Amino acid sequence: MKARVYKSTGSWYWLKDEAGRFCRGRIKGVLKIGGITSTNPVAVGDWVVIEEEDVVAGTVLISSIDDRHNYITRTSPHRKAQHHIIASNLDQAILFATIREPRTSQGFIDRFLISAEAYHIPAILVFNKADVYREKDLEKYAEWEDMYQEIGYTVLLVSTKTGQGIDAVKTLLNNRTTLLSGHSGVGKSSFINAVFPGFQLKTQEVSDWSGKGLHTTTFAEMFDLPEGGSIIDTPGIRELGLVDFSRQELSHYFPEMRALLQECQFNNCLHQNEPGCAIKQAVNDGRIHVDRYVSYCTLLEEIRK
Ligand code: GDP
Ligand code: ZN
Repeated sequence: MKARVYKSTGSWYWLKDEAGRFCRGRIKGVLKIGGITSTNPVAVGDWVVIEEEDVVAGTVLISSIDDRHNYITRTSPHRKAQHHIIASNLDQAILFATIREPRTSQGFIDRFLISAEAYHIPAILVFNKADVYREKDLEKYAEWEDMYQEIGYTVLLVSTKTGQGIDAVKTLLNNRTTLLSGHSGVGKSSFINAVFPGFQLKTQEVSDWSGKGLHTTTFAEMFDLPEGGSIIDTPGIRELGLVDFSRQELSHYFPEMRALLQECQFNNCLHQNEPGCAIKQAVNDGRIHVDRYVSYCTLLEEIRK
């Protein structure tokens, strides 16, 4: 039977089988998994095959994992080449951001979008706390809304306090698996409580289960929403880790640049001072927003280090 992983607590996993029953499972023997080397064999969001182990205790054995459509990782702080898979099989990722109290930086938003592109996860931007935006904040919102919508992202303005825009976000969650991200304090918990009263998101960072205190591990957890769909909460993880990509690849994760890359004179163009650069031309023509180009250059610098 198939089941989906909702939570991992070290060697045990919480699973929900196709019949909708929750059970506890352990890994049977050595799992065969293709793809990357990770420090955890099974991640939240994985679809797995289970075999009944103890009917009375309700425990099962995980005998294999289905291929992942996508996944997000955190690089192990100790072994650089090893990744920890935080969550998998995501239909979309929502970044909760705010223009005021406090303003989320464009750099942070763009890093999120680039990571989502690199992980092949459709990204949505939700700006919360609309009720406190002053005229200048609303102008900033309108500017960002134009800029990001032009690129193809869904952008929404909401207030969990007044309820403005909340239904639109709720509709987006229906029957999908959604990752919720954002700095702490932007209103993720308030949002969940506003749309699904009584539902609690974890906000505290959980310390490593081994108790050795070498590093803190945050466990992702998946929750079913009452009206269908699920949310993956990643307490303590502020941003999707930037995937290890080369400087050459960076522009591929800017959708508005991706379409023009063929037109640069040099196929290894980094869009800095090379002659015949289609990207710089597009920035000059206003087809690529200058602020996005600035983000690109900033990230390029970071990769250089
Ligand atoms: P989280 O850390 O992302 O889960 O953020 P919380 O939901 O805990 O919210 C952080 C703070 O922002 C709390 O004091 C909330 O009351 C406040 N807050 C959340 N949503 C709104 C909103 O739409 N408007 C205003 N004015 N405050 C909000
Ligand atoms: Zn170029």
